Amino acid sequence: MRSACFLAIAALAAPAVGGAAPPPPPPPPGYSASPPPPPGPPKPPGPPTPPGPPKPPGDGPKELVSPKALADLITLEDLLAGSQKLQDFADANGGNRAFGSAGHNETTEWLYQTLKETGYYDVYKQPFIELFTAATVGFSAGGEDYPSEYFTYGPSATDLTAPIVVVDNLGCDATDYPETVSGNIALISRGICPFGQKAANAKTAGAAGAIIYNNADGLIGGGTLGGVGDYAPLVGVSGETGAILKESVAAGEVIAILNVDTIEENRTSYNVIAETKEGDHNNVVMAGGHTDSVFAGAGINDDGSGTIGSLIVALALAKFKVKNAVRFGFWSAEEFGKLGSNYYLKTLNGTIGEGSAEEAHKVRAYLNFDMIASPNYVLGIYDGDGSAFNFSGPTGSETIEKDFQEFYTSKGKAFVPSIFSGRSDYAAFLENGIPSGGLFTGAEELKTEEEAELFGGEAGVALDVNYHQEGDTIENLNTEAYLLNSQSIANSVAKYALSFDGIPAADPALRKRGADKYRFQKRFDDESKAHNHAAPCGHALAEI
Ligand SMILES: [Zn+2]
Repeated sequence: MRSACFLAIAALAAPAVGGAAPPPPPPPPGYSASPPPPPGPPKPPGPPTPPGPPKPPGDGPKELVSPKALADLITLEDLLAGSQKLQDFADANGGNRAFGSAGHNETTEWLYQTLKETGYYDVYKQPFIELFTAATVGFSAGGEDYPSEYFTYGPSATDLTAPIVVVDNLGCDATDYPETVSGNIALISRGICPFGQKAANAKTAGAAGAIIYNNADGLIGGGTLGGVGDYAPLVGVSGETGAILKESVAAGEVIAILNVDTIEENRTSYNVIAETKEGDHNNVVMAGGHTDSVFAGAGINDDGSGTIGSLIVALALAKFKVKNAVRFGFWSAEEFGKLGSNYYLKTLNGTIGEGSAEEAHKVRAYLNFDMIASPNYVLGIYDGDGSAFNFSGPTGSETIEKDFQEFYTSKGKAFVPSIFSGRSDYAAFLENGIPSGGLFTGAEELKTEEEAELFGGEAGVALDVNYHQEGDTIENLNTEAYLLNSQSIANSVAKYALSFDGIPAADPALRKRGADKYRFQKRFDDESKAHNHAAPCGHALAEI
């Protein structure tokens, strides 16, 4: 799409809407355990059976899962076939799989059906309703159309036509706005202060509209004004477009036309939750990733990679027995504020509906996979012990981190810590004091020289140049990282399906301490605004 771009945000956790059919009640969050499977034939005593390929399904009794056996079943072919499926859903529905869209609903329905067909999982779609706001935007100047994007909370405008006036500096101060801005369209650079401040300053200066151009190549890729306010109608454009506009204005008057057509409505979306029928349902390992993309693209790395990596592991696991139950969580509306995972935890712990603290305590560990195949990847592991960023997870998170490290080491791979600052779906688990961890191969951050030495790839280039962009397609996957990390998911899932050694039992006092510690760290982090690096997906949409 050249001249129009579609962006969305769901801002409010909306309660059930009057008049809408009430969603079916979810099953009890912990699931009632199915009757135990009939005992298999007794194992002959003696030396362990020699390792061999796991038995195909339906061929005799299942073997107990092992990390190696599960990891060995993960193939690139299966991963790419899954990724292609997501690409097809996007291609058939306007190029994206954003929350509330047909492309996303097809994604969740397919996950649900695929998992259900195994017969191995209890699967349900957990509905929730969120306010969906989106806009179609259009921008032209001097008769040329330019790619443009919406800032969430930005007001509507229809064929707003006026000359462009360049604002001084970065438009953060009232004095940056020349008097000639009044009644015209202010052209402002991104940088230093929030978009909302620039949009409000433009309004105060009497501007009829505003354009914020990126201070780098490409579009901003999902900006928000931070909340409802008194703003000039505005669009975002790329750094290249900004440079063209400035040059044109220097040469003479340039008339721009802005269109911002907003939609606001409540929409139902679904988390997909699948739990092994077998295993101890009082001691559950949970793994997941988010199923929605941003509106700019298909989201095949962010987070199609974590979605499919988790799914392929779930399908392979169906060939084995487990001791501890394994639950997969496929989260909706992550890109718009981690809404799905937040909603799920609230239903689990009883903040909403039938859950309880005891139900939440049954989740012994949570593993998050959000972007695991970035094209210029690093192998990042969430810093569960806080050794790198002084921002640790609840007790037990250090074990999860160490287990991921050991997997990479066993494969002769380097790894780097990734900050645990709450910008992906693990946040809701940390808020409940649940030991957590996961993998992250990087978003818009530039690769350092040191990282290029460790992992190859190109220094000075974003870890994912297509992060939150139209280019996040099936072509945007590093297949080596994709396969390795999906095998790593298998390794950890199988490990905890066997034992939670090193991860403490969930006693309420410990969980509360973990949750309090997380909140304290999070507040400190928010206040310091120190961590834009290593933040998965920028899942708080960029505000500056
Ligand atoms: Zn993501």
